[in-house]
Amino acid sequence: MISTGLLTFALLASPAGGGSPPPASPKNPLLAPWAGPYGGVPPFDRLRVADLGPALESAMAEQLVEIQRIAEDPAPPTFDNTLVALERTGRTLDRAVALLNVYTSTMADDAVQALERDVAPKLAAHRDRIVQNEKLFRRVAAVYEGPERARLDAEAQRLAWYWHDQLVRAGARLDAPSKQRLAELNQQLAALQTRFAQNVLADEERLLVVDDEAALAGLPESARAAAAAAAAARGHPGKWAVLNTRSAVEPFLEYATRRDLREKVWREFVMRGDHGDAHDNNAVVTKILALRAERAGLLGYPTHAHWHVEDQMARTPERAEKLMGAVWPAAVARVREEVADMQAVADREAAAGQGPRLTVEPWDYRFYAEKVRKARYDLDAEEVKPYLQLEKLREGMFYAAERLFGFRFVPVAEGKVPVYHPDVRVWEVQDAAGHHAGLWFFDPYARKGKRSGAWMNAYRDQRRLDGPVTTIVSNNANFVKGKPGEPVLVSWEDARTLFHEFGHALHGLNSDVRFPSLSGTNVARDFVEFPSQLLEHWIETPEVLSRFAVHFRTGQPIPKTLVDRIVRAKTFNEGFKTVEYLSAAIVDMKLHLAGARPIDPRAFEKETLAAIGMPREVVMRHRTPQFLHLFADDGYSAGYYAYLWAETLSADAWAAFEEAGGPWDAKVAARLKQDVFSVGNTRDPADAYRAFRGRDPGIAALLRERGFPVPAPGASGAAGVH
Ligand SMILES: [Zn+2]
Repeated sequence: MISTGLLTFALLASPAGGGSPPPASPKNPLLAPWAGPYGGVPPFDRLRVADLGPALESAMAEQLVEIQRIAEDPAPPTFDNTLVALERTGRTLDRAVALLNVYTSTMADDAVQALERDVAPKLAAHRDRIVQNEKLFRRVAAVYEGPERARLDAEAQRLAWYWHDQLVRAGARLDAPSKQRLAELNQQLAALQTRFAQNVLADEERLLVVDDEAALAGLPESARAAAAAAAAARGHPGKWAVLNTRSAVEPFLEYATRRDLREKVWREFVMRGDHGDAHDNNAVVTKILALRAERAGLLGYPTHAHWHVEDQMARTPERAEKLMGAVWPAAVARVREEVADMQAVADREAAAGQGPRLTVEPWDYRFYAEKVRKARYDLDAEEVKPYLQLEKLREGMFYAAERLFGFRFVPVAEGKVPVYHPDVRVWEVQDAAGHHAGLWFFDPYARKGKRSGAWMNAYRDQRRLDGPVTTIVSNNANFVKGKPGEPVLVSWEDARTLFHEFGHALHGLNSDVRFPSLSGTNVARDFVEFPSQLLEHWIETPEVLSRFAVHFRTGQPIPKTLVDRIVRAKTFNEGFKTVEYLSAAIVDMKLHLAGARPIDPRAFEKETLAAIGMPREVVMRHRTPQFLHLFADDGYSAGYYAYLWAETLSADAWAAFEEAGGPWDAKVAARLKQDVFSVGNTRDPADAYRAFRGRDPGIAALLRERGFPVPAPGASGAAGVH
């Protein structure tokens, strides 16, 4: 995923509520343009959290002055004095917000969390002060509706459309009382969303500490070492701790033979935000949904979902639901088969006295799935891991980036570019001609105060306006550091995720546009996961595997027979993965289609899942009270479907390589760069895709990749995504 941080719409970075802002201290180092090599780098060496709040406040004030200057310009509105001028506003704020986002996502101690709580509503209010500036909107509308637009080039026309669309969608046309109410709603939402995220973070700190290593029976050595390190780091030396985060919980559920502890760990994880205590999120969700419904009504939409999907590639909730509905039955049918296979294993073991007599429960799914995988494909995830070293995989990513896009990654000498934590490293990215193309930060390890999962953070967007500015981007993950000197070994799934997040980074690094608002990953939500999901495919290429999937002891490449088994097992457990994801995406859409009636999240989730026939052995990938995509900010609300939408595109795009000369086909790669990776939001996504592929995308490749039956062309369910 990409971190949208505190600002939902990249274009409208801005802050302060009423009252006059505090005077900016000229000494605040966070206000100055970034200095140093590569056109300036983030000043992490001089960053004090205490300076961030004041920097944000004066940066907001500065942008309001800039906006006012445009709004009050006595000259008649033109593209240059209005739209281009708008693109030049808020630079100081962009920089301050980029730093804030780094700290809230990776360094969130108590002071950072307090700052976030304080500043989130102010940023929301600031944004509204820009959106609700009537003189500004009249000028934007005059350019958008006037004769000048037809004479602009395509990118400039797109910018005029973009600002006009964003302002209208955010309420620029409302009357004064409605605007005031809208601003109140946005500030309340910002505060509630911050609280939601902090509640989840708090529940992820709940540990299962065990005194006796026997409790870890079945766990591979790597997970034991991680549990010992986690316990030591949290004040329990000599014991073992299972963190309540995905990267710690999933291996435990796969391998731990103690069924009672699996159940305990599973319950703790799926109950995040749902304990009825101070960190419970149910009431927070009810309020967020009510405020979003009211806001949609003010803006003239039947529901939040209709408002939020309108400017996406899908355009309507119905089209998103249609795609989900086309995939759901095949996924559920596959889960039934998977459960039957697992039950047979459990029954056989029980009959042979090798295991308990049991009915497969949700906390058994991953455990018995591993057994089936081993029996059917002779594939044990732990057999693969010694070949998947974090640093080698990183080199494999660089290799793919060079062959596809001509990029070279050159390590930056330590100390040349400041970092915010000693674990963070930096590479310079150069293009095929050896020119500087950007910086890539890599922050791979888990630590307290860091969000779980993996994601990309954009520090600076590329643009050509006023001279070239290059991309600065980071990839973040939560791998557990091994013992000193030992490589970090990762699972096949985590290796794919590395390539995925790197795909987001490459989307930013390839950007070649004029205006920052249209740059890099600032694209529709249901399009933004397309480049990243596509990149995942390259880890499976023989070229990457033979060079970079090498055994950490022997240096031998992963054996061909093992790769064949991985490929054969590729669609294994796809029923589980699709159902856990799709159920969450369907609940998301239904929550945001429910309108103004008060929602009890627990009951709503239960009823919705019953209505769609959710298999009892699977739980939503993110239950409602912990669903950060929906409730930590607006970004993916009524938008979790976007992963499936984008995967439809990525499967179809990968097929373009297969139909041509294979994964490294230079012509297809060049089109991919030209029509997708470099254009940001300067083109309509559906048009850009059509230019790349020569036609609209269809879902056959997606179904094939997941191992589901592909309906005959023209049959119902053979819907496309266009
Ligand atoms: Zn992503």
